Amino acid sequence: MKITPLNIWMTNCYLIETEKTAIIIDPAFKRQKLVDFLKENEHKERLVLITHGHFDHIGGAVNLREETGVKIGIGALDNPALSDDDLNCAASFNRSLTPFDADYLYNDGDIVKVGDIELKVIATPGHTVGGVSYTTENLVFTGDTLFKVSVGRTDFAGGDFSVLEKSIKKLYTLPDETVVYPGHGESTTIGFEKQNNPFVRL
Ligand SMILES: [Zn+2]
Repeated sequence: MKITPLNIWMTNCYLIETEKTAIIIDPAFKRQKLVDFLKENEHKERLVLITHGHFDHIGGAVNLREETGVKIGIGALDNPALSDDDLNCAASFNRSLTPFDADYLYNDGDIVKVGDIELKVIATPGHTVGGVSYTTENLVFTGDTLFKVSVGRTDFAGGDFSVLEKSIKKLYTLPDETVVYPGHGESTTIGFEKQNNPFVRL
């Protein structure tokens, strides 16, 4: 499995490729590079996955669906944020997004099968009400739930630190060597965060 992180306006967007699969996690904003990736991988099963409904993680999704026909998946409780600039925080940053709905709505424990990859959905609310993490093999995409030595903000709509803390403790049950690919900043591991994260430790 090849994972390519793209830094788009401070947000990590991840391209995942295997022989039969092409996935984009958090298409932050509209970029031709993302369209090209899906077009180059037209013969594979393709999917756009969103960790949570904030404007800086979803901004490129509609364009990708229009240009390539790719489907979009998100945690069920964050779907309303895709069509609400207050919930997705675009309004707070004087922006507005084209409203849309996801094609697939996920709940905790769901398995997402795309080509030869299976990702498990872990509900990780607290930063938003419907935030999810996606895990496969020895890695996890945590969106804005868990960062390297930091955690997501809880002062936006739907944020709640005690809920976030529970979500992070759930992530801490993954094996220590699990690589964490967060929505912002550098990657880390579950084991490192359990020892060093100043906000949530076991
Ligand atoms: Zn966010």
